[in-house]
Amino acid sequence: KTKLSAHTQKSTCCYCGVGCGVVINKQKNGSITLEGDKTHPVNKGMLCSKGLNLHYTVNDKTDRLLHPQMRYSKSMPMQRVSWDDALARTAAVFKTFIQKYGPDSVAFYASGQCLTEEYYVVNKLMKGFIGSNNIDTNSRLCMSSAVAAYKIALGEDSVPVCYDDIELADCFYVTGANPAWCHPILWRRVEAHKAANPDVKIIVVDPRTTDTCGIADLHLQLNPGTDITLNHAIGRVLIENGDIDLDFITNHADGFEQYSRLVFERSLAEAAQICGVAEHDIRLAAQYIGQAKGFISMWTMGLNQSTIGVNKNLSLINLNLITGHIGKPGSGPLSLTGQPNAMGGREVGGLANLLPAHRNLANPLHRAEVQKFWGGTEIAAKPGLTATEMFEALNDGRLKAIWIMCTNPLASLPNVRLAEEALKKAKFVVVQEVSNKPETLAYADVILPAAAWAEKEGTMTNSERRISYLEKILDAPGEALPDSEIICRFAQKMGYKGFDFKNAAEIYAEHAKLTAKTTIDISGLSYEILKQQGTVQWPYKTKKAGAGSQRLFTDKRFYTENKNALISAVPDALNSELPDSNYPFILTTGRIRDQWHTMSKTGKVNKLNQHIKQAFLEINPLDAAQLGIREGEVTVITSRRGEVRVKAKLSAEIKQGVVFMPMHWGKILGNDLNRVNNLTNDAVDPISKEPDLKYCAVSVQKY
Ligand code: SF4
Repeated sequence: KTKLSAHTQKSTCCYCGVGCGVVINKQKNGSITLEGDKTHPVNKGMLCSKGLNLHYTVNDKTDRLLHPQMRYSKSMPMQRVSWDDALARTAAVFKTFIQKYGPDSVAFYASGQCLTEEYYVVNKLMKGFIGSNNIDTNSRLCMSSAVAAYKIALGEDSVPVCYDDIELADCFYVTGANPAWCHPILWRRVEAHKAANPDVKIIVVDPRTTDTCGIADLHLQLNPGTDITLNHAIGRVLIENGDIDLDFITNHADGFEQYSRLVFERSLAEAAQICGVAEHDIRLAAQYIGQAKGFISMWTMGLNQSTIGVNKNLSLINLNLITGHIGKPGSGPLSLTGQPNAMGGREVGGLANLLPAHRNLANPLHRAEVQKFWGGTEIAAKPGLTATEMFEALNDGRLKAIWIMCTNPLASLPNVRLAEEALKKAKFVVVQEVSNKPETLAYADVILPAAAWAEKEGTMTNSERRISYLEKILDAPGEALPDSEIICRFAQKMGYKGFDFKNAAEIYAEHAKLTAKTTIDISGLSYEILKQQGTVQWPYKTKKAGAGSQRLFTDKRFYTENKNALISAVPDALNSELPDSNYPFILTTGRIRDQWHTMSKTGKVNKLNQHIKQAFLEINPLDAAQLGIREGEVTVITSRRGEVRVKAKLSAEIKQGVVFMPMHWGKILGNDLNRVNNLTNDAVDPISKEPDLKYCAVSVQKY
């Protein structure tokens, strides 16, 4: 452990799910500087551009919300009020709706950026005391397809691998992801491993040629939406070549026969034609995987954000299962978490269809167990409204009140103009926020100022199940409070017992106790151990040093009923909004290197804004020529839901027929014509309810 001076403390970067450690130096004037933590097992001192500039977002307090505000009716102006008044009135309004329309008339919409303790208390409040499962988070837009697929394939939402497997693998299959920009420090580790071991094979699957392709041995530039066809075709070649693990398939997996029959239904030539890639390249990908001693598949939103997101995930996990590359060093399916604590949220059951510690909402025994532990009301069996469903329910009046915390849905939801209409119609909107910038504030009846990163303590879990403790380093400005304290004060105003936690450590201790004897058991873990040992990976069952778990399923016993993994024969049919003569292009979306989500933090940093200054449309030069569009000219992009106007960026690195827009920009000075989610489709995967943010039909014209 690094010896820290009195003014130096440790934390974890609050952007992506890589979970890099930072060392923070507090200056005499109350500002901070920071650097990468050289002793941290994840980043070993490295930080990406976002992490390196994190202190600017903390030091710049010009956009901070400082006091609770409230309006007594929609026609009255917002006015500053005390915490007591804001929470008392909010509790009175919530009680009225619950009494009149039932508990399902209110909802909480939270975030993968909340700390685990914050997730825990809001989930407990909603499910255990208000009596509705209407608590969902923006992780629904991010990881819910991976969660569902892990449950189906492995029995539970459990990432089997650790980052140290990177240096032990000799083949990587990176699909639906651009980690060079979106998970940079993890990718630096892959790059360093490849540089030291040139024989390591890297396969990148993406309709665009991204920076991640820079070290690829093979780039499969597939047609958007054809991932399952491609994964099945690779599976077929692996079987044909005998590059499968028969012992694993026979003794530890179910479903192989059905899968094998399915993947042989399509010829390789047919699959290659559907995917728009060469047959030879599919064979080469299968050869690289087949010859690997350690094989890691890596993915993120390109697979998750789809109406067939769960099936895409399953078709990928199948490649690890049929080759037996799971539960051993250097191998396994590694879903890259978008947000810093999406996994912590999953641990506490912070989605509308989950219960704490991976318990099953549909199981009456599990519901009874949690109810008894919390001592509140009966936990409803019916899953709550998911992210997009909440806004549909506000629109049709089923939902009366929504409490939005730590997220900016009017930039991030698909078909966002519909979400905007929904907030206009909502009877009561609470917005719990750090910044005065998010568009949602315009619709708020109550605004609650929240403490930001470094102004509160708590824990987060990264993509490899690694839990880290984040110290409180600064006092929050004005009257801003930690999110968990706001929720606990509100719960007490509602008259509920069980929210009188003295500090975050007590919340964590309760959460840890509730995990006892489950597959994510962290009942041995406490703040003291995290402070002494640094970060640890769950499960962590005893108080013994080093009780964490680097990788899962080393005994090849999965969390399914019969302990076998499931190889799923999933169909490859695409049910997205297909291009037609009116909307002939496929629009796909994604991040850029130096911005984070809806830019409320990174947008404040000049250095980060220099990389790419405004939203743009990436289009193939041949498509642009046909439309008479030149580099830098303004284009009008229209879908069935709305339009945007941004400058064209001509690039041969995107396929013809496909266009790309970044996801970050929302309204700028009231103008929403940079906002890609005016265009995107709110159709969702039937199982994960994750929206089709990566695929919709659009037209493109010169302005
Ligand atoms: Fe932060 Fe992610 Fe960059 Fe690491 S890779 S510094 S966690 S944004």
